[in-house]
Amino acid sequence: MIERIDSKKAVELFKYASVTELGVQADQVRRSLHGNKTTFIKNMHLNVTNICVNNCRFCSFKKKSNDKDAYSLKISEAIEQVEKGVKEGIREVHLVNALNPELGLKYYTELISTIKNTYPNLVVKGLTAIEIDFLSKIENLTHEAVVDALINAGVEIFPGGGAEIFSKRVRRLLGTSKAPKEVYLKVHRIIHSRGIKSNATMLYGHYENAEEVVEHLEALRSLQDETGGFSAFIPLRFVSDNTPLKVEERGAQYDLKIIAFSRLFLDNIEHIKAYWVSLSPEVAQVALSFGADDLDGTIYRERIIRSAGAQVKPGMTEQEMKKLIQDAGFVPVERDSHFRAVLKVG
Ligand code: SF4
Repeated sequence: MIERIDSKKAVELFKYASVTELGVQADQVRRSLHGNKTTFIKNMHLNVTNICVNNCRFCSFKKKSNDKDAYSLKISEAIEQVEKGVKEGIREVHLVNALNPELGLKYYTELISTIKNTYPNLVVKGLTAIEIDFLSKIENLTHEAVVDALINAGVEIFPGGGAEIFSKRVRRLLGTSKAPKEVYLKVHRIIHSRGIKSNATMLYGHYENAEEVVEHLEALRSLQDETGGFSAFIPLRFVSDNTPLKVEERGAQYDLKIIAFSRLFLDNIEHIKAYWVSLSPEVAQVALSFGADDLDGTIYRERIIRSAGAQVKPGMTEQEMKKLIQDAGFVPVERDSHFRAVLKVG
């Protein structure tokens, strides 16, 4: 049982505790929950379109429909990508996309049910709360109706992307008109009410201060108290290289601080992920001793963070992932989408 840190104390802790102090405490919590195991999943990212009606300043993935590198996959083309992932041994498709009014709810339910009919053992994780909100607007449906349609098509778990950071001040600076905190939390509440799990995220490393980090985590912790529906929290480091936002990088010490602090503050969320694509494999390795217990996945075909300028390769093999974990002093455990260890036969 982790002792709860109240928000006022949390701000002081974030401001004044050293990264080493936070790391030592977070490592104790992580080891009490997960021992020396570090999990990972064999997965792929499927981003069927980069055409977006929004123009978030921090995003280098979005394109306008007449841009030369804009794309929008037909269902058959998306299935071809999934087939390549299946040949690589994936067990999960992480489906996250830009907000393209040409791709309505019918497109997504058809895509998801085609994936499930073709590969019944694959888990589809998609879409984000922001996409669900967008589909509800263009289809004139409630959030509930969109969530239910996705579940009926075969979605088993929902991703946490699109939360960015809840602070209105920072959202203005980030230049985003994405659905705000209230909508993000509402959609996740609906998902959890269906007995389905989701993840939560926070985009950090731009303009946020200690109070705003705590505000964000407090909102997630409160919803988790209410529903228990979040499986994992994923702090996402902002990569600015190809975006118009020129913010000073805060460095690996800050990454580790965010991870350790999240592990301590989010006493009711079981897993903290070190997302190696945005952190870099090296920082993600260190993060395993600062509270993180999962490295996400092999991530065949990640596009979004790499388009922002992250200098990492498009995926890792299972062997590379295991070596990364072992070299950091932990025992690698392959898992499924629900954090259950995968038992291999033979
Ligand atoms: S972050 Fe998402 S909503 Fe914003 S511009 Fe990029 S793809 Fe569109």
